[in-house]
Amino acid sequence: MTHTPKPQPARIRRPALLAILAALMLGGAMAPAWAAERFPPPEFETGHVLPHVPTPWPRAAWQEVADVVVLLAALSVAAWLALGRRSRRGILWLSIFSLAYFGFYRGGCVCSIGAIQNVALALANTSYAAPLSVVLFFAVPLVFALLFGRVFCGGVCPLGAIQDVVLIRAARVPMGLQHALGLLPWAYLGAAALFAATDTSFIICRYDPFVAFFRMTGALDMLIFGGIVLVLATFVGRPYCRFLCPYGALLGLCARWARKKVDVTPDECVVCSLCEDACPFGAIHAPTPEGADDV
Ligand code: SF4
Repeated sequence: MTHTPKPQPARIRRPALLAILAALMLGGAMAPAWAAERFPPPEFETGHVLPHVPTPWPRAAWQEVADVVVLLAALSVAAWLALGRRSRRGILWLSIFSLAYFGFYRGGCVCSIGAIQNVALALANTSYAAPLSVVLFFAVPLVFALLFGRVFCGGVCPLGAIQDVVLIRAARVPMGLQHALGLLPWAYLGAAALFAATDTSFIICRYDPFVAFFRMTGALDMLIFGGIVLVLATFVGRPYCRFLCPYGALLGLCARWARKKVDVTPDECVVCSLCEDACPFGAIHAPTPEGADDV
């Protein structure tokens, strides 16, 4: 007889999570000053002033390799924590690491969501070659979704993590409204692919609500937009993920055919629907007598 470990309750308190977020933002704010102190910009005798660059500088090849290795490791740990250990607390700590690394340290770039555009442009325009690391950031989470479900969203994506950190109490979104709003990510995906393929604009990057927070700088309109989404995320679980994220739409599609997915209390479901009521993201639907529904 096999023994299935019971799910562990998350025990990281909300004030602790917010303190971690504040510390990450403080670190993110101090990092540019620290870097400028270590590597001061050149002073030109001609009076030339270096332009302000709102995007991260290109990274060395070994750093891009390191990013891919960290992505692979984080996805593997997420799959193990979700399916093997069934540890919500472990997933939470992994999310905080991902928020620190992919969010505040990497400034939200390279990002799997934005990589959609590089791939669309490369497919439409043969003179453009997407960097290998970007292609891997696009493809690897999708492969993991085909194998293990949406472990990227669960513990690796910094955009999901920052919304989790600020969630106080999730209101229930009516199912009809949730389904209607669930069409938006597909529309956004189509628009983003079209704009990228025609080399018009990378709208996913342009309208990323959190990247300005990760970089501690950005256009005022995007800071306001990000602030609104974060306030919304305090009482609606992961609004960007559920109602806007184009990469989430692709991940959800892949996860439908996942070889192995999270089951809610396998072999123990008594169809009480407590999990359905408790899920802050509306991701669990109508457990069946045969067993629990997949999430
Ligand atoms: S739905 Fe999109 S933003 Fe949310 S966790 Fe998944 S990939 Fe990240």
